[in-house]
Amino acid sequence: MDDVITALTKGIAVYETLRTYNGKPFALKEHYERLKKSLSYLKIEPPAFEDFEKLVYENLSERMRIVYVYSKSLLEYVFQEDTEEFKVEYVKVDITTVRRADPWSIPPDLKSLGRPDIYLARLTKGDNYDVIMLGTKGQVCEGTFSNVFLIKNGKFITPSLESGILDGITRMYVIRFLKESGYEVEERFVEPAELFYADEVFLTHTSRGIVPVNQIGTLKTKSVELSSKLSKAFEEYVKCLL
Ligand code: PLP
Repeated sequence: MDDVITALTKGIAVYETLRTYNGKPFALKEHYERLKKSLSYLKIEPPAFEDFEKLVYENLSERMRIVYVYSKSLLEYVFQEDTEEFKVEYVKVDITTVRRADPWSIPPDLKSLGRPDIYLARLTKGDNYDVIMLGTKGQVCEGTFSNVFLIKNGKFITPSLESGILDGITRMYVIRFLKESGYEVEERFVEPAELFYADEVFLTHTSRGIVPVNQIGTLKTKSVELSSKLSKAFEEYVKCLL
């Protein structure tokens, strides 16, 4: 109990959300590496990979959130995530007025619970699936729990890591999947206007893979056709990797 009180008053919590397919966790190593990165910013010794793996396998569920709270020692908690809200074909998003924190203040890959930029942006979500945050220079960054892609003239474009985004694990696998499927993928700074002129826009995140976007603010996107097809194909791609 002492540990929990110290954690609540002085501690910080980092987390990873994992997805399992047919009883197998996807991208376990990548999630572990990202957890290690989060903990490294806080100068906290990470758990051994074997302990992380054991924790995951002992608590396996379709979508799970592993939380590490630091007080005098590292406390671990596992939560089952609700899967219902993700059962959608396409979604509406908006651009939030809350900006992603300057990476020089808070590293974008410090995945902590209650991160103020993410938390405040989520408060502006309304009935949107997610809201897209811009960076300090006005560049497109990402959603509060998702990365952003757009399709223009057959080419895929996504904000580069230098834009100040979380190194999304789904983003990384989607880029690989698209390249292996013969598509061109550009990682670079993206202007907000590009989202509105895009042929298609989609989000990526662990719990749902590729999520087509059919509306940004009050404007409908041109199409969700290719992203819907890719969303299904990506599910199969992931299953084949396991
Ligand atoms: N961006 C942010 C800010 C996130 O919190 C998340 C996931 O939690 C993502 C992107 C998507 O990352 P991943 O694909 O690893 O789930």
